[in-house]
Amino acid sequence: IVELTGVGKSFRSADGAARSVLEDVDFRLAEGEIVALLGQSGSGKSTMLRVLAGLVTADAGSVRYRGQPLYGPARGIAMVFQSFALFPWLTVQQNVELGLEARGVARSERARRAASAIDLIGLAGFEGALPRELSGGMRQRVGIARALVVEPEVLLMDEAFSALDVLTGERLRDDILQLWDGGAMPTKAMLVVSHNIEEAVLMADRVLIFSSNPGRVRAELPITLPRPRDGDSLEVRALID
Ligand code: ATP
Ligand code: MG
Repeated sequence: IVELTGVGKSFRSADGAARSVLEDVDFRLAEGEIVALLGQSGSGKSTMLRVLAGLVTADAGSVRYRGQPLYGPARGIAMVFQSFALFPWLTVQQNVELGLEARGVARSERARRAASAIDLIGLAGFEGALPRELSGGMRQRVGIARALVVEPEVLLMDEAFSALDVLTGERLRDDILQLWDGGAMPTKAMLVVSHNIEEAVLMADRVLIFSSNPGRVRAELPITLPRPRDGDSLEVRALID
């Protein structure tokens, strides 16, 4: 559904020298799968996600979505950020509607779709709340609702749970997997960036290892376990340990 071929990206540092962050990245995300990307801090994982989200332009290689070159944010691709990236002065409803506003959806339609995304992620009743009135877990639910409201085919999650305490993060992760397994999301593929190997193994069908300096997909973990359903995660955990 999305495909990177030979993708490279450099950033210019303060002294003016170009620093290569991504080099020759090959990656494919197919319909129906959840892929996790593990890698060290600074290896370029967020940059790769931003390239897919159309927020950063690659300077080498090709980025394709459904076979078409990607030149900017695509309608069918949405991203969830580690730091939630909410507007503090906007309500939950307004934050969620933002994604639709940018895509030119009419006001009445925006309200209806935002309400349904808010409900899906378990925030019904909090439409009028401001981010500061919510817990971290609820704030990230707003971030997820804002991504889901555009009905993305591809959902990119950049360490979406790592700013949350362990239990809150696990709960949110389980809720997302439940929506995914139950077909309640319009999403057809997910790419999950994580620092946490357990989270990666528990969520994904495939786990890729990202190397640093410069970033590149280096290896795939040979995971043959089916993704655990409710109840068997302890056994899977024992296997990982
Ligand atoms: P982390 O696990 O800490 O989130 P990461 O793997 O997501 O790290 P990136 O955020 O992609 O890594 O950053 C990779 C490198 O690129 C870092 O050295 C970072 O400083 C640099 N970088 C990222 N974005 C920019 C930018 N807009 N301008 C300049 N340098 C950047
Ligand atoms: Mg990052």
